[in-house]
Amino acid sequence: MIERKYKVAILNYPLMNPNRKIGNIKEYFGLNQMTTSSKAVPLYIHVPFCDKICKFCIYSRQFLGDNNDLLKRYVDSVKREIKILGETDYVKSMNIGAIFFGGGTPTCLSSEQLEEIINVCRDYLPLSSNVEITVECDVKNTGMEKVHKMRELGVSRISTGAQTLNEYYRKLLGLNSSTEQVIEWIEMVNKYNFNVVSIDLMYGLPGQSISEWIDDIKMACTLPIDHFSIYELCVLTGSKLYKEYCNNIKVSFPEQEHLFNMYIETDEILKKKGYIHHIIPEYNLPDKQSSFWELTYDGYGDNLSVGASSYGFINGVNYQNVSNINQYIRMLEEGNLPVQMASAIATFSQMMERTIVLALRRKFIEKEIFFSEYGRRIEDEFGAVLKELKDTEMIIEDVDKFVLTKKGEYLQGDVSAMFMKSTFKNVSPFRKQLSIGQHIVPEALQFS
Ligand code: SF4
Repeated sequence: MIERKYKVAILNYPLMNPNRKIGNIKEYFGLNQMTTSSKAVPLYIHVPFCDKICKFCIYSRQFLGDNNDLLKRYVDSVKREIKILGETDYVKSMNIGAIFFGGGTPTCLSSEQLEEIINVCRDYLPLSSNVEITVECDVKNTGMEKVHKMRELGVSRISTGAQTLNEYYRKLLGLNSSTEQVIEWIEMVNKYNFNVVSIDLMYGLPGQSISEWIDDIKMACTLPIDHFSIYELCVLTGSKLYKEYCNNIKVSFPEQEHLFNMYIETDEILKKKGYIHHIIPEYNLPDKQSSFWELTYDGYGDNLSVGASSYGFINGVNYQNVSNINQYIRMLEEGNLPVQMASAIATFSQMMERTIVLALRRKFIEKEIFFSEYGRRIEDEFGAVLKELKDTEMIIEDVDKFVLTKKGEYLQGDVSAMFMKSTFKNVSPFRKQLSIGQHIVPEALQFS
């Protein structure tokens, strides 16, 4: 029997406090000193606009419509934020290994706007010589011309949130394009020799059977796709789908056991096709892993993040930028970094917990690396939790590492929460929510 409380992964740690007075942000983050870390850092750039709002979506984004002036001011503000960060000693001394344009829909930007942002990154940030650049694309607004331009700009990974290739479910989720258009797009971009073509797929759709999901994923495997991000649909408060659920309009959701079986089936099918499961929820062909996700879940270093509502971690501080787009623009026009809230500077034990919470996305924690970073044995620091996880068959112990079992992978959010028990015991439900990105899972749809 599988029971799961955290349907959304815990990634923002240490917990932020909306009431914390930050004061001078550069001083609070220690941006006037050089970093002491030599690890490569991922940079996330958030573009919070979409041409259509999907029914399941609660991400930070808004309908673009004819708001092109706002988009232009937003692009100027992102460039300002990158410049401000890039002029600090801390960021200057970093080595940025991967850039990820996410959203929202980054391809709401014109080719020229994408070029402007990439140029500012190249001019103001210490990018590694082989920096990986990923752009999430909407099939509908990413034609051949924009694809060609992205290739010229050095974009190496291209991805699209296909979600499903089943026409019925595409309509049910309110997706922007047809199955045929998605397939044609994948075949088109494949001709441009990107290092990686990636798609997102989603299971656990309302009323979806296991065999429908198997058909979906098998069909995707016939296409030239190097990398899959596989998500379980999580119906969150604020989505149109949740409203439909509340109004009882033809929405029913698969049982937890059924969802776990879908997870297992996915794993088997993709592995048989040669995909490697490096990171939850990523599957890639050999040599096609994403540096961005590898660096994000390294667990030992910084995660730099720009754009409205984006989350990052700099020099021991977990932070989120302001979500309101106009406020974001205003703060940058006034020359300020647009941070909305931040954690306290992580203590030694919080850094250890953060490492574990993030490393669990990579499915294992290496004993030796943990020891060399912290000078403590993970068994001594977290012995009781590790024993409980072994007893409940969520983790197994190898000679050199602790590895999640399939059950542990599926329950990764709950496993993370167990390592943070003492932290979670003493904070308000709202601050707990912040650890999963303010995503509110309606109680009626929680399984435990
Ligand atoms: S799922 Fe993606 S494309 Fe759809 S509304 Fe949300 S951010 Fe936009």
